[in-house]
Amino acid sequence: KDTNAQNLMQLTDQFGANNYHPLPIVISKAEGVWVEDTEGKRYMDMLSAYSAVNQGHRHPKVITALIEQAQKVTLTSRAFHNDQLGLWYEKMAAFTNKEMILPMNTGAEAVETAFKAARRWGYDVKGIADGQAEIIVCSGNFHGRTMAAVSLSSEVAYRRGFGPMLPGIKIIPYGDLESLKAAITPNTAAFLLEPIQGEAGIIIPPDGYLKAASELCKEENVLFIADEIQVGLGRTGKRFACDWEDVVPDLYILGKALGGGVFPISCVAGDKQVLGVFNPGSHGSTFGGNPLACAVSIAALDVTEGEDLAARSNRLGSYLQDQLQQLTSHKIKEVRGRGLFVGVELTEPARPYCEKLKELGVLCKETHETVIRIAPPLIIIEDELEWAIDKLKQVLQ
Ligand code: PLP
Repeated sequence: KDTNAQNLMQLTDQFGANNYHPLPIVISKAEGVWVEDTEGKRYMDMLSAYSAVNQGHRHPKVITALIEQAQKVTLTSRAFHNDQLGLWYEKMAAFTNKEMILPMNTGAEAVETAFKAARRWGYDVKGIADGQAEIIVCSGNFHGRTMAAVSLSSEVAYRRGFGPMLPGIKIIPYGDLESLKAAITPNTAAFLLEPIQGEAGIIIPPDGYLKAASELCKEENVLFIADEIQVGLGRTGKRFACDWEDVVPDLYILGKALGGGVFPISCVAGDKQVLGVFNPGSHGSTFGGNPLACAVSIAALDVTEGEDLAARSNRLGSYLQDQLQQLTSHKIKEVRGRGLFVGVELTEPARPYCEKLKELGVLCKETHETVIRIAPPLIIIEDELEWAIDKLKQVLQ
């Protein structure tokens, strides 16, 4: 037994709020697709910090940007300009093909930002009567843990004991166009969804749903907002998961891999007609747009584009899915995914399988009881993937 690790886990148990249930491994180093525990045992990271480490742990270009910027200036607040923010804006605008960007720090904050933008757009542009704006979301969604985000949720575990919830929210079934049609009223400001639901267990909507829903929103003068925090930036084999249906949302919500797994940064991207509703004093964040985050994010985007991580994810993801599809086990209900974003749904709880995989040196985390999510860093190479597939076969077959 590693007494150091035991001690560190005990400290976490003793002093930490009990809002997580981690696998019993204490990571003290990481590089690329690999992490190392306190005893020096190596594991392959098949979770990528919920897709925040798409570029791999400590990508040299991202770390160099971090160190160089840390030696210059790290925080100015938005009371002053800094010399990185404008460059990052320009890069983000090109990357998203949107006119305006609003930076925050975490995913949930970016969701809050989109939520506020949608409501204000509803009043100021669409002309909804004050206090009447409605936002439509999908059951099974995960948009974060703030009060707006949990008010959007259909999950009892995320909501219980936290009420009263925000009003003006309608929850409809995911992937059901008729429900969306029925839910839209003249007071609807926005339809917010994940183009693939991550936390719900890698749920891919029916073919054509995103396209039809976005067209319906356009006809009805409702904003179509895509939460691409987990599935954007190449994760599913395209730059954005919306690209699978050639859909351009009014707002993109981005986070996680935007900071290369190194520094938190998130944002909302949209055109002036929508994001232009903010004026000085209406929204902000002390750390939002800080030069350290911007420099790191520029490098993270350079890696995403320069190493064509989306194409890599598409190619290796197809292979991974093929290999897993070939498994014939009564324990496997379904293998589904896009690119290197794969869910293996079991007929029984997934946690024991994740524990077995951990013993073999593969780190996965169950989502929604019965689904094993497989989402390695997108820089993974063929040999590494083969190695992981071999372990997955051992445990799942
Ligand atoms: N939205 C989606 C789709 C997510 O997957 C997550 C995190 O898992 C969030 C929002 C919240 O992001 P954060 O944990 O950075 O607040």
